[in-house]
Amino acid sequence: MARRTLGLLTGLAAAALPAAAQHLRLAQVAIRDRAGLDSLARLGFEVADVRRAGGGVYAVIVVDDAGATRLRARGLAPLAVPGAPAAAASDSFKVYRSFDKPVTGIRATLAAWAAADTLIHVDSIGASIEGRPILAVKIGAATDAASRPNILFMATHHAREWMSTEMAMKLIRWIADSLPRPLLAARDLWVIPVENPDGYQYTFTADRLWRKNRRTNGDGSTGVDPNRNYPAFWGYDNLGSSPTGNTEIYRGTGPASEPETQGIVAFHAAHPPVLAVSYHTYSGLVLYPYGFRTGALAPDAPVFQALAGTDMLPGVIDSLPNSVLTHYHPGPSWNLYPTNGEYTEWAYRAHGTIAFTPELTGGCCTPDSSLYYGFVFPDDSALVERVFRDNLPFARAVIAAAADVAAARGPSGLGPTPPRFEALWPETWLSWPAAATVPYSLTLRTGTGAIVSHSLSADSLAHGRWRVTWKSDLSSGAIRAVRADGPGFSAELIMLAGAEDADGGWAGWPRSSDALAGSWSWATPGNDTLLSPVVDLSDRSRVWLQFWTKHAGSTFTPENHGVVQFSADSGATWTDVALVEGDGGSWYPVRVDLPQAAGVRGARLRFAANGFPWWLDAVGLVTDSTVLFRAVAAAGTAEVSENPVKSDLVVITWPAGTGSARVGIYTFAGTPLVRASVAAGLSEYDWDLTVGGRHVPNGAYLIVVQVDGKTYRRRLFVTRPGP
Ligand SMILES: [Zn+2]
Repeated sequence: MARRTLGLLTGLAAAALPAAAQHLRLAQVAIRDRAGLDSLARLGFEVADVRRAGGGVYAVIVVDDAGATRLRARGLAPLAVPGAPAAAASDSFKVYRSFDKPVTGIRATLAAWAAADTLIHVDSIGASIEGRPILAVKIGAATDAASRPNILFMATHHAREWMSTEMAMKLIRWIADSLPRPLLAARDLWVIPVENPDGYQYTFTADRLWRKNRRTNGDGSTGVDPNRNYPAFWGYDNLGSSPTGNTEIYRGTGPASEPETQGIVAFHAAHPPVLAVSYHTYSGLVLYPYGFRTGALAPDAPVFQALAGTDMLPGVIDSLPNSVLTHYHPGPSWNLYPTNGEYTEWAYRAHGTIAFTPELTGGCCTPDSSLYYGFVFPDDSALVERVFRDNLPFARAVIAAAADVAAARGPSGLGPTPPRFEALWPETWLSWPAAATVPYSLTLRTGTGAIVSHSLSADSLAHGRWRVTWKSDLSSGAIRAVRADGPGFSAELIMLAGAEDADGGWAGWPRSSDALAGSWSWATPGNDTLLSPVVDLSDRSRVWLQFWTKHAGSTFTPENHGVVQFSADSGATWTDVALVEGDGGSWYPVRVDLPQAAGVRGARLRFAANGFPWWLDAVGLVTDSTVLFRAVAAAGTAEVSENPVKSDLVVITWPAGTGSARVGIYTFAGTPLVRASVAAGLSEYDWDLTVGGRHVPNGAYLIVVQVDGKTYRRRLFVTRPGP
């Protein structure tokens, strides 16, 4: 896959800013690393971009005179951004229009559309500080119905992000004109094109780069960041928002202190959206919860990922001519930087809304450095239309997904995941659709044959909706999820390694005492390749890779990333199977399905870092199987999980006794295949039909279990398809 490379701005010396600039302006500050970005965030600046020029790395921010003074006081010189367009306030553009402008402004345009089109309805969900209506457009039926899921598209929390308003306006027109009618009739579709009308208006009349609303703060400063004011994780820390009034990310005096936020909160109470999309600019990202803390993954991560895609199969392709991006990077919001009091996180926590933040367009440099648009996207209707068309497939997928979120299918073709393990060790993560009301329990079979069962308790962050995490206390063996009334599934670690002394055969990365489990992890400062030994998977199907990772990259520099590769021929040739990029400062698990690994004798893994500080631990190959469990054995017979047997694992149970049990499995001709002893108190034996690499042939078998002087028998038929 072609990777984005930032145009090097060689030959363009960064000039000092004119001292007398009155308004907000784009500036760049030399930084060295992630810590430089974090320190800017702690000073209350929103880092909009990172650029490289003349061997240096610069964070792009928006400053006024006071902000520039604060930076200089800390020895950080704000410099002009070479190639940045002039950012003067004006209301005479070909494409962009203010909220209040007569005839062609946002308010007038929506009123005209509503008057001319019976499918378009405009309502106000509240008033801004300066008294402007926060307009919500309903397309389709005038009122909503309980039978139709609500979907919300929203734009321009941040005043200067004009492209997002145009995205929303084009979406209103497209839904009214082109959305297939059966879909329109089956959804309650809402669009709020300007969440922050005062700030938006101000960018046309006074200050092009204004971001916040127009609140007069008690300290003499102006404006609250509307996307840091929501009542979820509000003020969680001072990195994801700021308590200081004159900063770009000021969170306000309290959760939902701003009338604009209150309007959105009230709208959600009346029309809770199943899915929502909150458009911003820029960076070329599709972000989703969580964002308040790095490494935190939402229990609905499989649904977020199905819709937004992955870097291998992205949901939004960037087709802008000369774009520095090929696609928008999808990921949890902390991939960009931590935020708190943010909209999608609040909507997800408060209403279970599957909510996304697309950061429209890449915003940086053409190869010849002639164009840097940033927040000031060109006033060019063809380019604006291109951005809309790039993002339309994702919007359509969101609209389609509302019928059944568990079956969400993204524009890249990524589909729903069945209930499955996301990770096995050192924590077991199990995810399953919210629609599956019957709970699962987890069963462990340890290496010594002991069985431990756990009923699942809800993840504290998840409202019990989608995922359970549970500390595993074994390093290998099968872990099974059992649903009380039907199919369950099983996963078994084939291989597990994490830089410990016993993990021989791995080569390439130094090890670090910064470990997730055990004493060590693998860690590279940026450019090493970690290579696994050859693993024999010749008897395995449904193989997946788990690894736990953390990394110190940046979504602003996606050319610095990690590649996970698989080889089926002991390392002669390699295929990319996953990309890792962005910021990820805390351990989290990744699951990568490897259909190409089934039956492979010479399987091998490689982790290649490209200027990407990267940690890995608990790297495992896992195999899945499906098993049907019965809850309780009937008296007199041994109970089996399925008969005839069509899977790889048969679970044999019997009424619990007090002594140890003897299990025998015989062919119908009387040849013993299995003779096993099961410890006292246990009443289960798992017959793995693939053990030792040999498949039990189809045919009839006899199971005999003896415990406490009683004998339980069962006839079993194996009729598996294939060899
Ligand atoms: Zn924004």
